[in-house]
Amino acid sequence: MTTISVTDESSALETVERRLFIGGQWRDASSGATMAVEDPATGQTLVEVADATAEDAEAALAAADEAFASFRLIAPRERGEILRRAYELMTERTEHLALIMTLEMGKPLAESRGEVAYAASYLRWYAEEAVRINGRFQTAENGGSRVLTMRQGVGPCLFITPWNFPLAMGTRKVAPAIAAGCTVVVKPAKQTPLSMLAMAQVFEDAGLPAGVLNVVCGSSSGSLMAPLIADPRLRKLSFTGSTAVGRQLIAQSAEQILRVSMELGGNAPLIVFDDADLDVALDGAMVAKMRNGGEACTSANRILVQDSIADEFATRLAERIGSLVVARGTEPDAQAGPLIDGVAVASVKELVDDAVAGGAKVLCGGAPIEGDGHFFAPTVLVNVPDHARILSEEIFGPVAPIRTFANEQEAIEAANATEYGLVAYLFTRDLARALRVSEALETGMIGLNQGMVSNAGAPFGGVKQSGYGREGGHEGLDEYLTTKYLAINVAE
Ligand code: NAP
Repeated sequence: MTTISVTDESSALETVERRLFIGGQWRDASSGATMAVEDPATGQTLVEVADATAEDAEAALAAADEAFASFRLIAPRERGEILRRAYELMTERTEHLALIMTLEMGKPLAESRGEVAYAASYLRWYAEEAVRINGRFQTAENGGSRVLTMRQGVGPCLFITPWNFPLAMGTRKVAPAIAAGCTVVVKPAKQTPLSMLAMAQVFEDAGLPAGVLNVVCGSSSGSLMAPLIADPRLRKLSFTGSTAVGRQLIAQSAEQILRVSMELGGNAPLIVFDDADLDVALDGAMVAKMRNGGEACTSANRILVQDSIADEFATRLAERIGSLVVARGTEPDAQAGPLIDGVAVASVKELVDDAVAGGAKVLCGGAPIEGDGHFFAPTVLVNVPDHARILSEEIFGPVAPIRTFANEQEAIEAANATEYGLVAYLFTRDLARALRVSEALETGMIGLNQGMVSNAGAPFGGVKQSGYGREGGHEGLDEYLTTKYLAINVAE
């Protein structure tokens, strides 16, 4: 059992294994290479971690494949209890995990604590679901035979995860996979490997059998992952990340007819009707836009407000967004941290500059904050022109572009005018309108009078180019189960 006592940043970093976790062993990369993990608030290197080779990735899949033969037969209750112990350990280690996450990803500590709780909630949810996997029995329509269906774990899985929720995007996949009796290889984003390595320590301490969970971090994801996706031992790929990379992975998966789940990008509309409770809508907009500094697939990317309340809404939102304390996430009063890297800052700046050049007006912020870290000032834009790129591309930063609409139909058309379809937010006190608009929105999830939809018991996922498959709830477990049916002759 790893003893965790966090006295300061360096001791927190020292307690994380910075090697690959393969077949229940912590190993250096076979080449001996390491890669740097950077603090986005300072631009300085925090630590070095092992930089896996393609041979290491292959060893991880071999370990997952070998472990599957026995893990699939372990009693469901035992799988559930391992998940439950992992939930308890993760919860006990909240401060440690939150600090690690803030150091490598940048979000304020309060948000990192929230992500640890969110990540752990999947372990608890699927600890309870592991014992509720069942099939059915029926009499065939001709009466001469019986139909028995069983649900079985799909087999060894590969998970590729992003940097923006470095722990929760792991547990959201790993927990249902373990509940279903599957074994896994996880490859975290190169910017944030520490949270996933710390997750592996949690599972090791929770008594997960060797080889069931393997973590390989590496700087060359394409060459690490392609051979695994082409390997017939792999049975399932689940990816969370950008639509561009998802598209490439779907193409690669076609060769082995792999089962695939894709949690991809978003361009969420947040619609405020004139009958909404404005305080509730503003609170919702703050969460939907500013949670994770806007670096979320669920982030409100286009704020659509009905004409008659638009000025008041924009002024009040700008007051709140403009007064957020921007600081390194470890500062006690930090409300917004840095973006992940310099590329992210440059890309947000490009989108804001393009909108402003087209006639948008800046109510607050509008530019990067000078200094060593990767900070961008929280920004509100109004009068954003139709053709501005910021309305069609994922912003992934703390920028709220506000547009207006005249009526319900116009709001629906504007909301659906995107190739994405992950989440939408809707603020109205009119129940009939809420249902009409919800039915018309092309999206996988809707927050009605709330700015957050994440919940371990609910099916998270999108439509259109936001992907397919669901994480959380019963649907999240189905992703890791396959159906087998037995036709039984009962004739005498
Ligand atoms: P990304 O660039 O697509 O990277 C995601 C993961 O894919 C990383 O682990 C990355 O590794 C890996 N990767 C990149 N190229 C690859 C390749 N050719 N082959 C195999 N793996 C490859 O996305 P990101 O910038 O980390 O994350 C932000 C994106 O994730 C946004 O679009 C966001 O909307 C989306 N997201 C979606 C959800 C959802 O549930 N729908 C949740 C969170 C985030 P490297 O780090 O080595 O590049």
